[in-house]
Amino acid sequence: MASLIESGWTYLITHFSDFQLACLGSFFLHESVFFLSGLPYIFLERAGWLSKYKIQTKNNTPAAQEKCISRLLLYHFCVNLPVMCFSYPVFKYMGMRSSLPLPSWKVVSTQILFYFILEDFVFYWGHRILHTKWLYKHVHSVHHEYATPFGLTSEYAHPAEILFLGFATIIGPAITGPHLITLWLWMVLRVLETVEAHCGYDFPWSLSKFLPVYGGADFHDYHHRLLYTKSGNYSSTFVHMDWIFGTDKGYRKLKALKSIGDEATHKEN
Ligand SMILES: [Zn+2]
Ligand SMILES: [Zn+2]
Repeated sequence: MASLIESGWTYLITHFSDFQLACLGSFFLHESVFFLSGLPYIFLERAGWLSKYKIQTKNNTPAAQEKCISRLLLYHFCVNLPVMCFSYPVFKYMGMRSSLPLPSWKVVSTQILFYFILEDFVFYWGHRILHTKWLYKHVHSVHHEYATPFGLTSEYAHPAEILFLGFATIIGPAITGPHLITLWLWMVLRVLETVEAHCGYDFPWSLSKFLPVYGGADFHDYHHRLLYTKSGNYSSTFVHMDWIFGTDKGYRKLKALKSIGDEATHKEN
């Protein structure tokens, strides 16, 4: 497996320049993972499949789904792609490389774990700031246009928010100067995580069922369906920040009430 990855990587670095891989390669990888992981939820919602796992009963109209996709394509090409290109010299300066040898799995996993924890911390505070009156009205309300989120709404946001919260995603790699393969893996995992958080389905196989510190779809869906001043659950990935700062009280209360209700119906049966 390691040699397969290494020969694949050798092919890439002999056929493409460092800049091409870091900018265009990252963009292509991002688009592929984002749309391939997000589009199935649109089809699930339209077909009504697995509806017993759907968190909200409300569905989005096809027009609302199409608006989301066309806006995303516009922002991805006009905001994300230029950011990827302009941040290249910064990453280079901080020590990013694409050459062989590839980093060990120990290094890759430690760096990625650090990025997740740091991203969650920065995102939490940035997101709380976005929920102040003026910023919510002029910037963050765009992301909240979808009170019933579906996978692709994860990146549907005002361009200013894309830049502001995008900082949380790139701060970790920017200060550690990782290998490009680590950066790609981080990007893939972060996209899969945020698409899942917005997917609108709480499956029995969702990661949050096995990893209590992980927020997941049920946690973030609550943030979308409540009024902006009452929502809480500001974290992107984990639940500890909201727990420490008491911004998950409403959500915990609801969960407790739900489990009492479930228990009562269980007894009745
Ligand atoms: Zn929000
Ligand atoms: Zn969201």
